[in-house]
Amino acid sequence: MLKILLTADQIRTRVAELGAQIDRDYPTGPVYLIAILKGACFFLADLARAMKTPSRIDFVGISSYGKGKSTSGEVRLTKDLDASIEGCDVIVVEDIVDTGITLTYLMKVFAQRKPRSLRIATLLDKPERRQRQVEVHYTGFRIPDKFVVGYGLDYAEDYRNLKDVCVLSDDEP
Ligand code: 5GP
Repeated sequence: MLKILLTADQIRTRVAELGAQIDRDYPTGPVYLIAILKGACFFLADLARAMKTPSRIDFVGISSYGKGKSTSGEVRLTKDLDASIEGCDVIVVEDIVDTGITLTYLMKVFAQRKPRSLRIATLLDKPERRQRQVEVHYTGFRIPDKFVVGYGLDYAEDYRNLKDVCVLSDDEP
């Protein structure tokens, strides 16, 4: 069963606020927005357009979740960046921070590449589930410990194209 948690309108308003905040923090740019495939693509596309500061985009592939709802705890880079980030202002764009395992791994990898600055923007945060502390500079919404889909987030590759973020439960409608 799908139950709306965040409407497309709420998301649009919040993404605009985050874009304005990033503009203030990086008045000249360019800012490298790096999305984690595949879930963060929608957020990256909207965030980049909500910003006035010039941006460049790139993508990394990470495998941490399988086809189910629980993490394997294992993180692997499946697609690397196309270009060097040395000396660049980088914002890693994530759909949701859950245990923090994925971002802890990725921030370690990116920090070694000597960017000028390195921050995280996430649309959603489930702080209750955190196992590793990660410093998140830009958070869209803090949400309860529920499995959500939509706006890029999937369950076994389905639901990514929903405009709202919805809670997916096993209950009958
Ligand atoms: P972490 O390493 O922080 O536990 O995992 C973050 C990743 O787990 C996210 O990028 C996302 O792929 C997946 N994830 C965590 N919580 C959810 C959720 O509620 N729904 C979906 N669809 N994916 C989630």
